[in-house]
Amino acid sequence: MTKSDASVLLFFIDGLGIGTRGPFNPLDNLAGAAPLAVFQNETPETFLDGIVVPTDPRLGIEGRPQSASGQTTILTGVNAPAAVGYHKQGFPNKALLEIIGNYSIFRQLTDAGVEPITFANAYTSGFFSERPRWVSATTAAVEAAGLQFRTVEDVRNGAAVFMDYTNRILIERGEDVAIRSEVEAATVLARIVAENRFTLYEYFITDKAGHAQDMDLAKTILTSLALFIRELLIKLDLDRTTVILTSDHGNIEDLSSRNHTLHLVPTIVWGAQREQIAARIQTLADITPAIVALLTGK
Ligand SMILES: [Zn+2]
Repeated sequence: MTKSDASVLLFFIDGLGIGTRGPFNPLDNLAGAAPLAVFQNETPETFLDGIVVPTDPRLGIEGRPQSASGQTTILTGVNAPAAVGYHKQGFPNKALLEIIGNYSIFRQLTDAGVEPITFANAYTSGFFSERPRWVSATTAAVEAAGLQFRTVEDVRNGAAVFMDYTNRILIERGEDVAIRSEVEAATVLARIVAENRFTLYEYFITDKAGHAQDMDLAKTILTSLALFIRELLIKLDLDRTTVILTSDHGNIEDLSSRNHTLHLVPTIVWGAQREQIAARIQTLADITPAIVALLTGK
């Protein structure tokens, strides 16, 4: 295998930390939760030799880690909370958008000549007809490189995955798409990964379930998400593709509180390059540099 064959899937899960066992952790004794069932002070149950790297989302800044600054850090390699002096919730502000505009992983890879690269998630027509005033760090990161967004039409054609990969939320919003099983969604995402050198996929219902403190919803989505990930890993060529799963902060692993947690997050790395990548990661700021180094051979 030459360097130019290598590819990476960054699988981002919002609000998944490494918690302790107990009645408030939906992953405790949850059947079918591997590889997401990672607990403090325990050797995790691995799947396909994935390496779990407990990763620091607090980044040396006081307070609870938040989505906008955490995602900016993951997607740029810049310690965003340190750069702006605080953890920023929700959507990135001007200061964070500036960091994303300059250092987005999509832009770094494009500038280094790594292509094709893509964001696998689909956007609904509302996004294109009336652009929201606030956009996610991910959206801004994709735009920083001038990449195209995938659409619901792409979902219908088997060429995109919605953030709810089952399509249930799309159907509730009135879109004409079919329900997808975890296996079907994994087939579509695996195909996108095979066609690209870098793919980002984003899932954030975990964070919503955490804020809602909804144990039943949490168990349902975590079981489904774990199955989706296992099916995906089976379908990928892990000699060629390195898979890096990570999160911006904890939340769903402790439903005793509606807040984000202060826990470390699980970065899990699969593929032939997993040892080298895992060795580089300590905080969320290490993810983008590790990916750029792998794909540019530096
Ligand atoms: Zn949140």
